[in-house]
Amino acid sequence: MRSVTVENITVQFDRDGRSDFRRSGAVNWFGKPVIVQFRAHEFHFDLEGRIQRIDGFSANHVWDWIQRTMANDWLYYDGNSYSGDTPPPEPLIGDAVWAVNGRTDLPMLQGHGGLQRDYVAKALAHFDDLIRTIRELVERRPGVELDDPNRLWCFLEKAAKNDRAQLQRIAEEIHGIHGGMAVLPPDTIAVDYRVILLKVMEGCVNACRFCTARGSLAFAMKSRDDIDRQIAMLAAIYGEDRLNYNSVVLGECDALLSPELEYAATQAYEAFACGASCLTGANLFLFATNKTFLAQSEAALDRLEALPFDRIAINIGWEAGSDKVLRHLGKPQTARGVLAGMERAGVINRTRKKVQVSGNFLLTDQYECDDIAIAIRASQYCGPLYLSPLRGQCSARHALRDLAALKQVRPEVCVRLYTMQRL
Ligand code: SF4
Repeated sequence: MRSVTVENITVQFDRDGRSDFRRSGAVNWFGKPVIVQFRAHEFHFDLEGRIQRIDGFSANHVWDWIQRTMANDWLYYDGNSYSGDTPPPEPLIGDAVWAVNGRTDLPMLQGHGGLQRDYVAKALAHFDDLIRTIRELVERRPGVELDDPNRLWCFLEKAAKNDRAQLQRIAEEIHGIHGGMAVLPPDTIAVDYRVILLKVMEGCVNACRFCTARGSLAFAMKSRDDIDRQIAMLAAIYGEDRLNYNSVVLGECDALLSPELEYAATQAYEAFACGASCLTGANLFLFATNKTFLAQSEAALDRLEALPFDRIAINIGWEAGSDKVLRHLGKPQTARGVLAGMERAGVINRTRKKVQVSGNFLLTDQYECDDIAIAIRASQYCGPLYLSPLRGQCSARHALRDLAALKQVRPEVCVRLYTMQRL
């Protein structure tokens, strides 16, 4: 690690986090940030000088931090699972911290309010002061004891531009390129939602009543020209910080339907330099409908296996195990179709190296999860399953009870609650 103090800030280069997205006590960040210590806080910047995370809250919240997405959403990372305010997250979601967004949180996090707390406002005010301080230092350029002062000034010049207004402009520029995505695939929790989004299609042919994923755009496929346009613009914005990404999401709700999927994935892998990331492996995430998934030939799956990514994670909305509940949800598929999808997904998860399939089911207070348990047994499914408590219609108690029950059904099935984030 190289550390240099310039008046009242200390800049640390090469204080690397883990490359495998496993949190391990003292080092619970990932990749290669530039860390700036200022007052009581540690500010993690990306390699383009954009704030990414702020640590250093007071005693009761010392294991918590806030983290910013490239869509300029702040998330409150609650690692203080010993306080009794929230249940320990690991067995529920598979991560050691809750990433609380205040919009689509799980029922046990309703009213969490982390982002509204005084010390968060104070940390953000200190960030504003830090940017002012950096601007003033860049203007004066005081002497520093460093072999390579250019590295320092180059970073500080970048950071000086990225105040909160500029970060919002960048987020709007990114949304202008692809339109954003209201819900990321659940498997992206494995990379702390650190993904670059590229749209190969938008909207959805269905109109399920419960849907929060579809977005506002009409169903349409993206042309190769449009994919090229998105990739070029995104590569320029992510810039040097592409080193900190190894994962791409192909949007939106049924990316497997796109005739340009392989083209987009290959081009994105190259342009976003996924193979040169400081993070281990390279992941492609996408949603598919059960119908599109079942229509894929083995040859099409072979072509996915041939993509340069190490893992191609397809997530499917099965949602319910009975026709009655599917009808109630307005989901245009049958229980028989769900079973067929789960059977095929189980076979793929047992036999394919790169392609992995996960599925989602909805939870509500109105229904027991027996139909889901029956479908798991009957289909011999193995792999990840995510449970989405329907917003406003599923209590924390019910969600925890269903989760506990479904975890018992088959040891080959990894059941977790779906933590929905957007980009
Ligand atoms: S298929 Fe999925 S994305 Fe499409 S409307 Fe239904 S829930 Fe929403």
